[in-house]
Amino acid sequence: MHRRRLNQWMTGAAVAAVSLALAAQPDAQTGGATAFVGARVVVGDGTAPIENATVVVRNGQIADVGPSARVRVPAGATRVDVAGKTIMPTIVDTHVHLGTARTALMKDLRDRAYFGVSAALSMGLDPAGEPFAVRAEAPAGVARYFLAGRGLTMPEPGRSDVPYWVTTEGEARKAVQEQAALKVDLIKIWVDDRDGKYKKMPPEIYTPVIDEAHKAKLRVAAHIFNLSDAKGLLKAGIDAFAHGIRDVDADDEVVALVKARPNVVLIPNMPDRGVVADYSWLKGSLTDAEVAKIQAGATNRPPAQAAWGIQARNLKKLSDAGMTIAVGTDGNTPWAPHVEMADMVAAGMTPMQVIVAATRNGAAFLRMTDTGTIAAGKNADLLVLDGNPVEDITNTRKIAAVYLKGVKVDRDATRPSR
Ligand SMILES: [Zn+2]
Repeated sequence: MHRRRLNQWMTGAAVAAVSLALAAQPDAQTGGATAFVGARVVVGDGTAPIENATVVVRNGQIADVGPSARVRVPAGATRVDVAGKTIMPTIVDTHVHLGTARTALMKDLRDRAYFGVSAALSMGLDPAGEPFAVRAEAPAGVARYFLAGRGLTMPEPGRSDVPYWVTTEGEARKAVQEQAALKVDLIKIWVDDRDGKYKKMPPEIYTPVIDEAHKAKLRVAAHIFNLSDAKGLLKAGIDAFAHGIRDVDADDEVVALVKARPNVVLIPNMPDRGVVADYSWLKGSLTDAEVAKIQAGATNRPPAQAAWGIQARNLKKLSDAGMTIAVGTDGNTPWAPHVEMADMVAAGMTPMQVIVAATRNGAAFLRMTDTGTIAAGKNADLLVLDGNPVEDITNTRKIAAVYLKGVKVDRDATRPSR
């Protein structure tokens, strides 16, 4: 960001605020401390927010966090006044499908950082090559990228042929071994007949897939639709569901299976809710034409509401049963987690439960031990908000600033509509 150019169009107050943030940046990089003083801190672990907190950041990591009355601001630290704001951990999106060419993928990761999303797991449509190269480079200042490489499905002519189309146990085990050699973050499988169009992956295939993945210390996430498949997969040792149960309401048997294995992760991935909704919060971030198109689609659609209702009831029931919930959005919409989180609250989870799902649980699912909560020793991956998301989850949309490893994301220069 160039200060001279900014001065031409920014107000004095805005310039002062930006200058303050810019002043903080070199310190974050050279080892001087920065203290964020006065915000409410939502830790991300489900504990009560810390009112009037101070977060001390040094070398990109959180050095201390707690009530301002307790936390000592180091001498010489740069102070950032965040009174009236709320700081929560940045968001993790555990189910996306990002671009597979370098330029597109980099834009996707940059757009996520703009919207406060600091990590994303691409779920099984990524061939060898550039996606793996970008992951290895781990570019700074954008969302961290995780991938499942090529997932496994039964043949689905007409759909993507990036996944392995497997029909035998031998093919399935070989596919897992090939992906394990590429060090994928996870194995993805599809267990869905797509409304009767294809033969669905049977237990005789997915059980060996899970076995082979576990031998390689990899976990398996399943795209599912039906309750019966959720049960079969739970019995076979599945690690995560990339969608909720979509055909019928969850029953006592699946609740018992979940209670026996509460660490299995559910990424509910709620469908379109089919209701009138206000998307004006995207104005300025996307182009006016993009916002108008999204707004035009937000109409009252009872069939969509009915489908949404099944998944909403199932999410609430399985969350209440103690299942581990993470946030995922499917597709490639960088701002979608903000809608998904509101949908999860509409389904009956509390805002705090949803924040934990989006932060700590997502980070744990991606095996990121260095982020996910606002705690000493974690990366300073901070989402600074103009409202309290514990009171109203849609306040995650009121983004004042995003910091990744203590460095402020330049949201003016990386605005998707630019
Ligand atoms: Zn998907």
